[in-house]
Amino acid sequence: MARGNMPRRPSRSGRQEGARRPKGSQAKGRAAQNMPARPARRAPVDPAKVNAGKAPKAAALKKKSASGYDPLAPERVHEIIAGLDQLYPRATCALTHRSAWELLVATILSAQSTDVRVNMITPMLFEKYPTVQDFAALEPEQLQPDIYSTGFFRNKSKSVVGAARKIVADFGGNVPQTMEELLTLPGVARKTANVVLGTWFKKNEGVVVDTHVTRISRRLELTKQEDPKKIEEDLMRIIPRERWTDFSHEVIWHGRKLCVARGPKCADCALETLCHAADKTWSTVEIHAEARP
Ligand code: SF4
Repeated sequence: MARGNMPRRPSRSGRQEGARRPKGSQAKGRAAQNMPARPARRAPVDPAKVNAGKAPKAAALKKKSASGYDPLAPERVHEIIAGLDQLYPRATCALTHRSAWELLVATILSAQSTDVRVNMITPMLFEKYPTVQDFAALEPEQLQPDIYSTGFFRNKSKSVVGAARKIVADFGGNVPQTMEELLTLPGVARKTANVVLGTWFKKNEGVVVDTHVTRISRRLELTKQEDPKKIEEDLMRIIPRERWTDFSHEVIWHGRKLCVARGPKCADCALETLCHAADKTWSTVEIHAEARP
């Protein structure tokens, strides 16, 4: 057996290799996974737009093997996007929110925490302090007990109160709608800004790069980088702009449900034949030692 190739073994889920899921079972599975609802199924990606106009910089990333394998080939990227669409057709942000301000606060609180944990405290938080002006009037110490359970509560309370004060002072109490302005808010970096711009304002200004997107992009050989900013740049070159936000949400859901950090559920993954990750738990394709999370 060639070194690096893993033997086939039966799916732990009991699903036979090559078997198609019956119609309707996928939707049932999503419901069981508590996937968020979206009003409409998104349009399929146009393969012609994958990598379009981005060749010069993307070329630097491409490493064709002797067999001609190119992990950034537009056809492959298109298949990955299509597979994610199939797995998570209604993926959206899992943070509960009713406004741009609530989404901004929830995203700040979600750093080094989980969306589930944040969703447990934000309803009470926004009932106690309904407006951005309420938050701006607080001292950070006053906020700490309310957000304690999300971790890093001292820094987060400073960020939330600082952001509220700047929004009230400089933006008329409204969350700004540009990347440049959002990045002036305390505690807001590109990841948070991308979540707010893409999810609430429907502006594709970048790709959200969190721990899930980092891990899965590296497993799928869409980047070799470790720095979130460089990973985002790589992804922005190969993913069509109109898909940046959807791609982010879908990959994040994939990281929660199947492509988890330890023991990814490869036997149930629609991307299995496209994925050569070194830490796959089941494979029908060649393994690439450098495809590591
Ligand atoms: S095959 Fe496994 S490692 Fe690859 S994307 Fe799917 S779950 Fe992740």
